[in-house]
Amino acid sequence: MKNLIVGCGISGASLARLLAEHGEQVIIIDSKNHIAGNIYDYYDSGICVHKYGTHIFHTANKTVWDFISRFCQWYPYQHKVRGLIDGQIVPIPFNLNTLHAVFPDSLANKIEQKLLDNFGLNTKVPILELRKKDDPDLQFLAQYVYDKIFLEYTLKQWGQTPDEIDPAVSGRVPVYVSRDDRYFQDKYQGIPIGGYTAMVKNMLNHENITVRLNTPFDAGMEYDRLFWTGSIDEFFGYKYGALPYRSERFEFITFPFERFQDVAVVNYPCNYDFTRIGEYKHFLNDQSGNTIVSYEYPEPFQDGKNDRFYPIANPQNAELYSKYLGMANELNNVYFLGRLGDYKYYDMDKAVARSFDVFNSLKK
Ligand code: UDP
Repeated sequence: MKNLIVGCGISGASLARLLAEHGEQVIIIDSKNHIAGNIYDYYDSGICVHKYGTHIFHTANKTVWDFISRFCQWYPYQHKVRGLIDGQIVPIPFNLNTLHAVFPDSLANKIEQKLLDNFGLNTKVPILELRKKDDPDLQFLAQYVYDKIFLEYTLKQWGQTPDEIDPAVSGRVPVYVSRDDRYFQDKYQGIPIGGYTAMVKNMLNHENITVRLNTPFDAGMEYDRLFWTGSIDEFFGYKYGALPYRSERFEFITFPFERFQDVAVVNYPCNYDFTRIGEYKHFLNDQSGNTIVSYEYPEPFQDGKNDRFYPIANPQNAELYSKYLGMANELNNVYFLGRLGDYKYYDMDKAVARSFDVFNSLKK
């Protein structure tokens, strides 16, 4: 059976490996000149730089963790994000430490008690949920967090307000009733030692897998089964119109000193036109006299100008996607997966889990 996988990112590479270990021959192609898709990284000044922005692997899914762990060793990195709020660098998501950093003790203590009474310790409360609480102090807090953390960041990131975007998107960064400063609480977290590109290279290093870079898909290619991790609208020639995406422009700067900021990512919700600054040496504790940072400027995806990063979840786009899904369901030897193939805001672990699902569905 000739298996052709289009796209060499984490979705395509995971599926390639699963098929190859099942004894299948796989050809995996990518139009770019590198493997690993948007998790591609490279070394510069002894620092592992994520070309398409900071990526942190985190999962509660042991199957996914065990699978990826076969292709890398993990640096036990725990992600912490800070944000510039009213001139102070404070923990993001907004948690009990943030509460005490931005408010005077009397107010912070009162609000802390109400959060504990209403939600309990170590609970995550989506900001849009907190706003619904019928309590003046909690409403005050909700409005503060909305204004200082979500509103302008989300306008920059999505060109829409938090009320307009899918609640699942802002729900990714809830108010966290906890002293835990980490961005993720998943049991398994880390950065592959040597980087993501090396990890994907190991995944693809199998006698049944052939990798072809600089190779866009063309309809004349031969296959028995096609696995498409590109955007689903592109596969169907944009018949119903293009699915919109957000993209990013990264401005990379190398500074001739050791440290730019205390943590890997600092968000700037209310200031500047960029959303955040990533400093790459934090991820693997890379030692260098220089440091490399990226300023992240969101922008709309435009074909030929930039890359697709984020599907935009709203009812109109869901309807457009469902039309393409209808066409996809008519085909019996073409499978769609990945952030672009499924038009879903997958984290890396969810993309791998989806590749497992596709693979398992083939076995049935
Ligand atoms: N968000 C925000 N302010 C922040 C962090 C996140 O408004 O300081 C919102 C914003 O809409 C963002 C979403 O929450 O797009 C999800 O953030 P996350 O950090 O998960 O985004 P990613 O790292 O995937 O870009």
